[in-house]
Amino acid sequence: MRHAFGLILASLIAAIVIAGVWYLTASPHASHATTQTVAARPSEPLPPSAGKLAAKDAPKDPAKDDVQVTAALSGKPPAPPAPAQQKPACANPNALGVSRVVVIDTLGGPGFGFEQFKQFDFLTDKEVVLTFDDGPWPGNTPAVLKALDDECTKAVFFPIGKHATYHPEILKQVLTAGHTVGSHTWSHANLNGKKMTDQLAVDEVEKGFSAVKMAIGSDPAPFFRFPQLQNNPAAVTYLGTRNVAMFSCDLDSFDFKAASAEQIINTVMTKLDKRGKGIILMHDFQKHTAEAMPALLQRLKAGGYKIVLMKAKTTLQTLPDYDAALVKDLKLPAVSSRPIGSVVQTVAQ
Ligand SMILES: [Zn+2]
Repeated sequence: MRHAFGLILASLIAAIVIAGVWYLTASPHASHATTQTVAARPSEPLPPSAGKLAAKDAPKDPAKDDVQVTAALSGKPPAPPAPAQQKPACANPNALGVSRVVVIDTLGGPGFGFEQFKQFDFLTDKEVVLTFDDGPWPGNTPAVLKALDDECTKAVFFPIGKHATYHPEILKQVLTAGHTVGSHTWSHANLNGKKMTDQLAVDEVEKGFSAVKMAIGSDPAPFFRFPQLQNNPAAVTYLGTRNVAMFSCDLDSFDFKAASAEQIINTVMTKLDKRGKGIILMHDFQKHTAEAMPALLQRLKAGGYKIVLMKAKTTLQTLPDYDAALVKDLKLPAVSSRPIGSVVQTVAQ
């Protein structure tokens, strides 16, 4: 009797083991469980931008990927793909325009502008890249944008992080107009200064990019210019590890020293006629520069110069710690505020 009972028990155990093995290897549940494990990775609490990047980098294959990213966005429906920027027809038949658009692969941190970086001589004769530093600033930046728009031409902007937090709506206009937006540090500190440390330099770089991202609502181009063109060797190495392209210039307009718009135009045209091409350094922060732009662009057109727009192949993913620190510094609400009625209640009148 005991023997028979033992046999039945052994058979039962064997049946349970077989069923268990089938469940883990062959049942639809098992494969579903595996998918969930894979999907869990992008579901970690990442900022929405990181979710977007995950979506972009994810293998193109199955519709499954969309499902996983949807999960990462806390149940919200997936954001529709960004609408392709409508290119409005240029209203000016004699506009300077853009003759060439180049896409820069910033892997490893290439340098541009022969004043400091002599590796990539990609401009041909009469080709010019317009670059503007130190904005965004009321009055001057919108005036520069209007002058560029009137000539249907594009430029690269290197805004200061602090200025971006003061005037985010102006920097957004820069991006919306189709210009390239990089960064020029958080506070325009000299990264080669005596009191500068490697960590402070990294903070200036990262906080600057985070501020630009906060202003424009998307990851900036991995394009960077050192304040006062003061390249700090450790920072150059760091930017290389972050795959950020570094910009110097070929022609300095010295517009921040100029006493008039005319002086800026003369400086730029004289240097350009001598050199024949180049990346021009100007400042949308400066009033005289804003005043000089309409005439300067016409002089470039009349001189047979052609505008090249530099774009980045990828965007820079800002570091979440710096994004968060910036929000804290600026004392911005991290979550949407509660309605006033739930905070202030009249209990006696
Ligand atoms: Zn500057």
